[in-house]
Parts: sequence; C-alpha cells; structure tokens
Amino acid sequence: MLDAFDDAGDLGARARAATRVGPIRATADLPNMFRRPFGPGWALVGDAGLVMDPITGQGIGQAFRDAEMVSAAIHAGISGSTPLEQGLAAYQQRRDADSRAMYEFTVDLASFVPKPGGDVLFPALAASPAQTDRFLGVLTGVEPMSEFLTPRTLLRLVGVRGMARMILAQGSHRTRLRAA
Ligand SMILES: Cc1cc2nc3c(=O)[nH]c(=O)nc-3n(C[C@H](O)[C@H](O)[C@H](O)COP(=O)(O)OP(=O)(O)OC[C@H]3O[C@@H](n4cnc5c(N)ncnc54)[C@H](O)[C@@H]3O)c2cc1C
Repeated sequence: MLDAFDDAGDLGARARAATRVGPIRATADLPNMFRRPFGPGWALVGDAGLVMDPITGQGIGQAFRDAEMVSAAIHAGISGSTPLEQGLAAYQQRRDADSRAMYEFTVDLASFVPKPGGDVLFPALAASPAQTDRFLGVLTGVEPMSEFLTPRTLLRLVGVRGMARMILAQGSHRTRLRAA
C-alpha cells in the first residue's frame, strides 16, 4: 500500500512519517448490479437499486439523484399530474441511462486488468492539466462520462497516431476476450 502511495506525489512520504493507529482493512467482496427499482407499493433508491464498486466514488451522488427523482415521481403520482407507474418507469429509464457508461467504466477499473489503450490515454491526460480536470470531473460525477470519452476529445488528446494505437489495442483486447 505504501509503495502505491509513493506514486502519488508526496503522499508516500507523508504516510510513512505518520503513525498507523489501526489495522488496514480491505475487501474484494463488493457487488455491482442494477435492480428494477420499483413495483406496486415500493421503490428503491441508492445502493439498494444500483450499486457499483466504490473505486470511482459515485454512490453518494447517485443516492441523492435517485431520491430526488423518486420523490418527484411520487409527488406527480399523488397529485395526479403523471400516473405513478409511468413516473417511476421514467425514473428507472433515466437512472439507467445516466449510470450505464460509468457503471461499465467502474466495473472495468475495479477489475485491475490493464486498460487497452491506457498506455496511450493516461500519459496524454497527465500532460494536459485541463483534460485532467475534466477526467477528475468525470470521476466525481460532475461531467458525464459520455461527454468526456467522445472520439473528438480523444483525438484532441492523443492525436491521430495515438487514436490508431488505442483502436488497435481495443481490437486485440476484444479478440483475446472472445478467445477466452
Ligand atoms: C469502502 C467504500 C468507500 C466508498 N467511497 C465512496 C466515495 O468516496 N464517494 C461516494 O460517493 N460513495 C462512496 N461509497 C459508496 C457510498 O457509501 C454508497 O453508495 C452510499 O452510502 C449509498 O447510500 P444509500 O443511502 O443508498 O445506502 P446506505 O448508505 O448503505 O444506507 C442504507 C441504510 O439502511 C440501513 N438498513 C439496511 N437494512 C435496513 C432495515 N431492514 N431496516 C432499517 N434500516 C436498514 C443500513 O444500516 C444503512 O444505514 C463507498 C462505499 C464503500 C463501501
């Protein structure tokens, strides 16, 4: 763990200079799943309805987002402006559409399998403070993943040759997956 901290600026040195006051706790037993979030007389928000590995730190924002959407759907249902079931179905649709790209990214990242094309993308990101900010915005949920990882942004970031290398890496990754 300390070796990993050494890769993050002065964090390693600061951690080594500190006193550990408890055990280091870890788990690999973390679920990733979408559940149908409503039925007659019930609705699910937050982790109960959609849970993903906390590596990308999305869960708190998603729980608030869900609570806001479900309360709006219930209010509309009770006040008679939109039938409850229709409102809750729209909630599920929006939740899934908002979260799908981040869910796939998260599950992929949590697998710790090296990302195809990551050797091109991450050094390019590290060299661009503006794009690093955007990428961190994606990780904190401020910017939708689907707006950041567009072919246009990638092209600007890694150039034509970089893009070609990424496409080739992804092609051979898919071939390996199919073979496996
Ligand atoms: C190690 C770790 C690190 C994380 N880091 C981040 C992060 O940096 N950023 C981020 O956004 N998210 C993070 N998350 C995810 C985040 O904690 C969750 O997504 C978020 O807490 C979900 O909120 P929730 O209200 O849906 O569920 P919870 O916070 O789990 O709340 C559910 C509550 O219901 C209670 N409960 C369960 N069953 C019953 C019952 N039958 N009767 C009464 N009460 C019950 C539980 O005790 C709990 O208090 C992390 C998660 C983990 C595990």
